[in-house]
Amino acid sequence: MDISKLAASIAESPTVKLNAEATRLRAQGEAIVHFGIGEPKNKAPMNAIASAVEKLNSGEIKYAPSDGIPSLKKAIVQYTEKNYGRTVEPANVIVSDGAKHSISNLLYALINPGDQVIILAPYWVSYPEMVKMVNGVPIIVTPADGGFYPKLSEIEKVITSSTRAIIVNSPNNPSGAIFPDELVGQIVDLCEKKNIYLFMDDIYHKLIFDGKKIAPVYNFTKKDIESTNIVVINGISKTYGMTGFRIGWVVANRKLVKTITNIQSQTTTCNSPICQVAAEAALTGDQSCVDELVATIQKNRDTVIQGLRSIPGVKVEKPEGAFYCFPDFSTLNKDSMALAEFLLKKALVVTVPGKEFGMEGHLRISFAGAASEVADGIARIKWALDPNSPREIQIGTRKVVRDW
Ligand code: PMP
Ligand code: GLU
Repeated sequence: MDISKLAASIAESPTVKLNAEATRLRAQGEAIVHFGIGEPKNKAPMNAIASAVEKLNSGEIKYAPSDGIPSLKKAIVQYTEKNYGRTVEPANVIVSDGAKHSISNLLYALINPGDQVIILAPYWVSYPEMVKMVNGVPIIVTPADGGFYPKLSEIEKVITSSTRAIIVNSPNNPSGAIFPDELVGQIVDLCEKKNIYLFMDDIYHKLIFDGKKIAPVYNFTKKDIESTNIVVINGISKTYGMTGFRIGWVVANRKLVKTITNIQSQTTTCNSPICQVAAEAALTGDQSCVDELVATIQKNRDTVIQGLRSIPGVKVEKPEGAFYCFPDFSTLNKDSMALAEFLLKKALVVTVPGKEFGMEGHLRISFAGAASEVADGIARIKWALDPNSPREIQIGTRKVVRDW
């Protein structure tokens, strides 16, 4: 039997696919450096693990409310107050199976067939496919100046009567750029004027370098939570290195939260209570693990930038947050897919082709791993791409010879 036309049109997530490929190659004993997945390598906070263990030991692991257990929702309310200066009610919060699920639910709740969702290139790989999955139309805005965020006029130009939402992700995956506060403020104004939802994907909002501060998105509106067009998406995956726990959330008006609750009650029933108590502990416990993570990835960022800038022809902007950089390799005259394949084959380094993020000529490098692995991976990329490199190097147990 044939699969549906819609399902047939959806591409596999390239980041998830590359992660599986890297795991497979490592299991075969290959000395892979994995710059392909956006995942901090630190362990989950001990109090989060302890909470999960305690829940597990209780043996009382049953269905939970579809919108999240009350104590986790309360922790998210407090998080919102502390980090966004905005008082919300538990009825404004819905917990889902990771921020990916949160975004997918939002689209499900808001998009009618043919509705348009504005996505700003470079963008996270999953946005366009998630819009297509609800029969929406992704409208991509690519900055004409080759930078990593658009001018307001470039967004205004694509707005039509079918525009329903715009997705902003800052600090950004894949560029590590932070949108200027002024631009975020202009986008909020535009959304209010045109009655468009703003999905603020804040999954990296705690991972900011060099002590830079960004204004919480609610600072740019005078509207209250029930009337604002702003929807905030966040989660524990990146901030606490808890990717496998699958907890994300949305803060929005009550009606939207109730709608998503109905959807979840018919699709996933609830998120695992084991993961929910772990998330609650991470959010309410000692936050020094977040500072430690920021310090580690900032050091990695510096290693990556220094190494990439020493390769002839490579241009790279210094990331201001998240744990990605998005260097421009276009002078090497290879498309990004061919370049990523070349680096995997010759240097055993996994990267993600820029094409997947809507920008050819670039590769995404995720530097969330251990410092030694990051330094090794960048040295290998330099070796493979710099014509002045020595003829051979040792990679794992193999001697590799430059034959290109
Ligand atoms: N948004 C962005 C920009 C991301 O990079 C990710 C990474 N997975 C997510 C959302 C979703 O994160 P998760 O589902 O692990 O919470
Ligand atoms: N968001 C991360 C990434 O871009 C995790 C994988 C995914 O869900 O895409 O690599």
